[in-house]
Amino acid sequence: MMGNQYGITHGMHKTSTYRIWHGMIARCRYPSMQSYPRYGGRGITVCDRWQGENGFINFLADMGERPGDLTLDRVDNDGNYTPENCRWATRSEQQRNKTPAKQHEVCKRGHIFADVGVYVSKSGARQCKQCAKERARAREAALRMSK
Ligand SMILES: [Zn+2]
Repeated sequence: MMGNQYGITHGMHKTSTYRIWHGMIARCRYPSMQSYPRYGGRGITVCDRWQGENGFINFLADMGERPGDLTLDRVDNDGNYTPENCRWATRSEQQRNKTPAKQHEVCKRGHIFADVGVYVSKSGARQCKQCAKERARAREAALRMSK
């Protein structure tokens, strides 16, 4: 019955791509779903193109079949399910995407740790490599001047 409703004619409803598509719709539309609060409940929607009579066909045309066991990931975690905001991603890629705060961890002077690198000092604190370099350079300059 579901197959006819969505115009599926090639047994696609048995594939994992179909299950992913169906799960996406359900998370956004049915409050009875356990994960609804993190999706539909906070305003995440599925674009019109991916819903209704040709929803799955359009989804398949835009995203292609699910590669291996990749998950459907939204690039902007606060954005909707649209062709522009969706990609197939590994679980770790998806995890990274969900913790942007960590990616932009910075030192007191605003160097982004992910860019400049960090080391752990004797006291166990995370220290900025860029600041350490600059301190070393300043010490050298001070030494030169005192000669
Ligand atoms: Zn720094």
